[in-house]
Amino acid sequence: MDYKEHIAIVENWPKEGVQFKDITPLMDNGPAFKAAVDDIVTYAKKRDIDIVVGPEARGFIVGCPVSYALEIGFAPIRKKGKLPRETIEVDYGLEYGQNILAIHKDAIKPGQRVLIIDDLLATGGTIEATIDLVEQLGGEVAGCAFLIELQYLNGRDKLEGYDVLTLMQYE
Ligand code: IMP
Repeated sequence: MDYKEHIAIVENWPKEGVQFKDITPLMDNGPAFKAAVDDIVTYAKKRDIDIVVGPEARGFIVGCPVSYALEIGFAPIRKKGKLPRETIEVDYGLEYGQNILAIHKDAIKPGQRVLIIDDLLATGGTIEATIDLVEQLGGEVAGCAFLIELQYLNGRDKLEGYDVLTLMQYE
């Protein structure tokens, strides 16, 4: 399936000079959304995954149907201050300023094989921080899956040594 026909490109959003890839038309289209989720499920089935981890908010949208299909759990990664119980945190740089991501301390058991899912790989900062949290808890990152990869932002450079699936690439 040509998923790109279901991605809306929004110029100069959220700020001047950015070309935002909007996945909501893909989510809006039942067969296209199902096909994209199924592609990630097929990938996951080859990798013996114990749990799916996804960062807020679009990582939940793509990650939860995958965990449901695999009949395994989903652990959310959220911005600092949003998770109610004991967490570990990681600080990472954004283009402007800092962000802190957190995961519940008991979300992953040591040795579990983790599939990290997000909607889009850009500079790789979010996935790098997510991998850091998973590994701090003793999880093994068995794969990373995204709908979209923005190749011009070189996020893959931060993923050397990890297995990565992307369904669409923009040069
Ligand atoms: P990174 O940390 O620079 O790789 O950015 C990836 C994160 O930013 C993901 O969690 C995305 O949801 C979000 N993001 C960055 N650019 C876009 C875009 O064009 N469309 C949708 N999400 C984006």
